[in-house]
Amino acid sequence: MPVTLLGAAEIRALAAELDVTPTKKLGQNFVVDANTVRKIVHVAGVRDGERVVEIGPGLGSLTLAILEAGAAVTAVEIDHRLAERLSATAAAHGVAGDRLTVVDADALRVTELPGDPTILVANLPYNVSVPVLLHFLETFPHLDRGVVMVQAEVGERLAAPPGSKVYGAPSVKAAWYGTWRLAGTVSRQVFWPVPNVDSVLVGFQRDGEPRGTEEERRATFAIVDAAFQQRRKMLRQALSGIFGGGSAEASAVLEAAGVAPTARGEELTVDDFQHIARVAPARSARASLGG
Ligand code: SAM
Repeated sequence: MPVTLLGAAEIRALAAELDVTPTKKLGQNFVVDANTVRKIVHVAGVRDGERVVEIGPGLGSLTLAILEAGAAVTAVEIDHRLAERLSATAAAHGVAGDRLTVVDADALRVTELPGDPTILVANLPYNVSVPVLLHFLETFPHLDRGVVMVQAEVGERLAAPPGSKVYGAPSVKAAWYGTWRLAGTVSRQVFWPVPNVDSVLVGFQRDGEPRGTEEERRATFAIVDAAFQQRRKMLRQALSGIFGGGSAEASAVLEAAGVAPTARGEELTVDDFQHIARVAPARSARASLGG
């Protein structure tokens, strides 16, 4: 039996039946257009036999499009009413039971994903899109690639190169894990309710090897946060509070990392930030040995 998709009328009827009124708090804007969910799956290059994790399946529009492509889905949904209903919706639309696994949980807190999915496809809840993406990339190293729908402003930030106006902490942190690209815009009219922001698709491909240890990642992200908290300041000032020794020590660390102390965070690549994080402990160890 072929998998069929949800139509706009069915989505509203399902919500009414479950007594679900979409809430802003959970970023609930449901896609009511079959072409859009098929486009997302197409852009993600989902193939028969792969396993996808979907964050926030909601009533199941995108879930069914992923299943239609022949993939299996692990779906993580925080709203119990929606999580509880999803398997029945999938079965009614031609999906065999074992191809969909529903996890009734907050995606920000999950630490295990049944089926070890390798692809992330989601229309993300916009209020938590960046933390949830970073949590998944950090926690699930087998996630190799993905396409997510996010607020346009957030998508532009995630995919921004150094030096651009919107380059910031999320851009550098996302780049820690791999390469990001903008992959298309989505009309507001495909959502119910219609949101008051524009949306884009963003794709990512994880780099082959992890670029550093967990300790190094934490140290790098702390430097990134400090650099962008005061983004107009030169790095020797913006980082003056984090190495001990004020701006003189910050300048010395930056110079040792080959970064101009007068540069600003927005000019640095993720490699530069990682280099600073690597140099700093070596300097403080030398200092404590009197070297
Ligand atoms: N995928 C569906 C679609 O495209 O129609 C729904 C997308 S809607 C933008 C976001 C979904 O994420 C909602 O179903 C919402 O309940 C769920 N959600 C919000 N916060 C969540 C969280 N922290 N963990 C898991 N799901 C969450």
